[in-house]
Amino acid sequence: MSKYIFITGGVISSLGKGIASASIGKILESRGLKVTLMKLDPYINVDPGTMNPYQHGEVYVTEDGAETDLDLGHYERFTNTLSSKFNNITTGQIYNSVISKERKGDYLGKTIQVIPHITDAIKERIKKCAQVSKADIVIVEIGGTVGDIESLPFLEAARQFRLDMGYDNVLYIHLTLVPYIKAAEEVKTKPTQHSVGTLREIGIIPDVLICRTEKPLSESVKEKISLFCNVKKEAVIESPDMESIYQVPLVFKKQILDEIILSHFKLICKFSDLKEWDRDVVNRVLSPKNKVTIAVVGKYIELQDAYKSIYEAFTHAGIYNDTKVEIKKIDSESLEKLEIGKIMHGISGILVPGGFGYRGIEGKIKAIKFARLNKVPFLGLCLGMQCAVIEFARNACNLGGANSTEFKKTKYPVISLLEEQERVKDLGGTMRLGAYPCKLKKNTLASKVYGRMLIQERHRHRYEFNNKYRKVFEKKGVVFSGIYPKKDLVEIIELKGHPYFIAVQFHPEFKSKPDKAHPLFKEFIRVALRQAQGLS
Ligand code: GLN
Repeated sequence: MSKYIFITGGVISSLGKGIASASIGKILESRGLKVTLMKLDPYINVDPGTMNPYQHGEVYVTEDGAETDLDLGHYERFTNTLSSKFNNITTGQIYNSVISKERKGDYLGKTIQVIPHITDAIKERIKKCAQVSKADIVIVEIGGTVGDIESLPFLEAARQFRLDMGYDNVLYIHLTLVPYIKAAEEVKTKPTQHSVGTLREIGIIPDVLICRTEKPLSESVKEKISLFCNVKKEAVIESPDMESIYQVPLVFKKQILDEIILSHFKLICKFSDLKEWDRDVVNRVLSPKNKVTIAVVGKYIELQDAYKSIYEAFTHAGIYNDTKVEIKKIDSESLEKLEIGKIMHGISGILVPGGFGYRGIEGKIKAIKFARLNKVPFLGLCLGMQCAVIEFARNACNLGGANSTEFKKTKYPVISLLEEQERVKDLGGTMRLGAYPCKLKKNTLASKVYGRMLIQERHRHRYEFNNKYRKVFEKKGVVFSGIYPKKDLVEIIELKGHPYFIAVQFHPEFKSKPDKAHPLFKEFIRVALRQAQGLS
């Protein structure tokens, strides 16, 4: 039978609950346990797929094609768990399922209420995830902050879980803020007390508190928190700001959080000191020998979360290459009017990420042209590949005005919809989503980089390369190095005679890990670094 850990957050949002959950997953996994991590999101959208990145940040795509919360990205990067559509629940999904059961008459005349019908549906989904994943430990992160109206049904379901499953099988962890007040030169525990108080009103008494703090907590502060919040002193865990998120599992490990959890569950597990993680990830990320600057030319660069997995993939490639990857974020819309040579001064590589809609497209195309002509290493992801195709059509194939039919009616629709997509009406969940196999062509950059001939990568897009233009492109030096065989769709393009120009229709960033950087990012940074050092 699985054991369950519920992680709630208090005081303010953005305390790093996702990282804390992922780190707990890591320290438990290192003890030989199989873990799975879930995110419960209190919004009414069925999934984040239809949300603007400014509202939500990145949409993380699972192997089975679910569009999910970006915290699932942290879960997959920190642990070996592979998430699926069962790992992310939203209020929208829960109400959807309850209402459709009601319409079918499944409730046999009952009045449908939040308790028990909504809470039952939540609990069923959590148990389903446990069953599908066969995990020893199911870590359930509840989105939002305690006290929000929206998250109440999830918290109520979490409360009932201990009653249903037994005390020893459920553990509650509350993440809170202990702010440092400069004028008083003191850290303050009152917000934590209030937050735990609110949680107790709901009926949840936390077993562990993780205190986010700028300053270390003294023993007396820990004692105070322990007393006022009714949590054992050793279970008051401090979580200071760290240079790298990958240090957090070590911070928890040092305070024996894994032991605290295991002893609650009465589990005896093999010992682990996270030595490999410390050596291969943390040490390397903290002391790189080299530095390289990469430009990310996108539409949502003001928001750190919009391209989360891409930035992380760069960190991983940096870890591998012993290099600090500095990111210069360039707004693609402003770039349209700027002098590109000046903006790209000191840049060793250019990445164009995915996206939707016409705004900022011409800036991306301008950056790609610059990378192609000046032999600057380039990686295009999804929309980034589609822009590379448009750029090449216009400027190398003499197809003036070439475009994607997503943006404009054009004589040269080099990117267009497949027939099956033309018929689609709903926006939500209808793109090409999730993992698809891709066959690589022999003796290409892609096959060298991957070191294999068959790969599997995750997709999230509607438009495709228009095969009508394959011949024209090939004549001008484009290599179609990756194909989805079943439908003969172009998944990877590269350029002959360029040190590193590769663009992919999928999202490799979702599969990069700190101790296993994605090959496309690894090689991108390696080539960029060599060029920066004048070695190419
Ligand atoms: N807007 C493009 C499409 O739907 C690209 C999507 C993306 O970059 N994720 O095909």
